[in-house]
Amino acid sequence: MRPLRSAEVIAVGSELLTPSRLDTNSLFLADRLRAIGILLRTKAVVGDRADDLDAVLRASLGRSDLVVLTGGLGPTDDDLTRTVVAAALKRPLHEDTAISESIRQRFARRALTMPEINRRQAMVPEGATVLPNAHGTAPGLYLEVGEHVVVLLPGPPRELEPMFDAVVRDHLRARTAGTRVYTRIVRVFGRSESHTEEAVRPFYGPWASMALPIEVTILAARGAIDLHLTVNAPDETAAGEVLVPAVRQVVEAIGDDVYSDDGEAIEQVLARQVTTRGWRIGVAESCTGGLIAKRLTDFPGSSAFVEGGVVSYSNAMKTRLLGVPEALLAAHGAVSEPVAEAMADGIRARSSAEVGISVTGIAGPDGGTAAKPVGTVVFAVVTPDARVVRTRTYPSFGRELVRDVASHAALDMARRLIAGLRVP
Ligand code: ATP
Ligand code: MG
Repeated sequence: MRPLRSAEVIAVGSELLTPSRLDTNSLFLADRLRAIGILLRTKAVVGDRADDLDAVLRASLGRSDLVVLTGGLGPTDDDLTRTVVAAALKRPLHEDTAISESIRQRFARRALTMPEINRRQAMVPEGATVLPNAHGTAPGLYLEVGEHVVVLLPGPPRELEPMFDAVVRDHLRARTAGTRVYTRIVRVFGRSESHTEEAVRPFYGPWASMALPIEVTILAARGAIDLHLTVNAPDETAAGEVLVPAVRQVVEAIGDDVYSDDGEAIEQVLARQVTTRGWRIGVAESCTGGLIAKRLTDFPGSSAFVEGGVVSYSNAMKTRLLGVPEALLAAHGAVSEPVAEAMADGIRARSSAEVGISVTGIAGPDGGTAAKPVGTVVFAVVTPDARVVRTRTYPSFGRELVRDVASHAALDMARRLIAGLRVP
């Protein structure tokens, strides 16, 4: 039989269509399925309506090898997954007395009589394998339908998750090609999503036609771009043979804007750069309000290279804590290259940090002028051997995003300066 490669998850339940409940089962399943080489192709959330579920199920079976339905296996009238699947697959339902007996005993253990409606949970489509539920009444069901597999799992994550790990995975693995999904993440800062795509697009064709084809996804968040290169491979060595050269191609095409070729955070990259030199970092922040210091200290072990930071929001504090001359502030304004540089020099002079990083800017929504609009941010980085001062504008980003992107930009500027790269 053809190995299972593609999957869909259908989360059933009208409550999942309200603002108060989120379908998390599909996230869990996406992760577990990747690990056994099955990629999620589509997912759906369907309310408790037989006709809708029937239509979505048929569409999924037309596209994908595996369909996992979650929820709607309970005993009440609105739990219709079992009956809809049985009807669509033309598998008549029969009561499995072993199941009804075990549900009866579950009730009995709590000195209760089983309501008759719970017998619905013992109804099994012809040819289905029953998946025991260690944490609830509704068993799961596993069905082979020609080349396809259909799995029904209970909705509550505390029932579904252990059931998947205990029994579903092994059933599915017996039907896969024995591969798993391997991903390498290349992280980029300093160019847009479309410029990133433009640089790597020429590889897409060759990658897609390899014996182990590479799939590419581009994720943009908070000014940074992540490129995910994914391959379905029998083992790590085979995956590496495909992914390592591909990652090298990406790094060559994108150049200095790549700050990590293995999914590392910018803070970790910078941490490595400074610790290998025996340096420490001090930060002087205005508009980022301590965000850079927070980001640098989010990782365990940061005390090895973080000296500390100053949040100097007012001019007075820039002068008192960092020694920025009042005359400089008066002449150029707080958001200016001379002041940013003086802040970076100031934090170095007042601490034992070798690397001084400073940020001063106008995060908005107020405070902009024609010469310095909202979103203007000035950065300075000073090391024992180099210094850089730059002005950037992030128009229409909004306060939060300006601060986020500015903090990333400051860290990235430090990375480039320390590595001896050109800082654009
Ligand atoms: P039960 O026998 O407990 O009724 P069931 O299979 O019928 O199980 P549902 O009634 O659909 O499951 O859902 C029960 C609860 O499980 C929901 O209230 C919700 O909290 C949770 N749940 C259902 N589906 C999901 C999902 N896709 N993601 C996260 N939680 C879910
Ligand atoms: Mg239910």
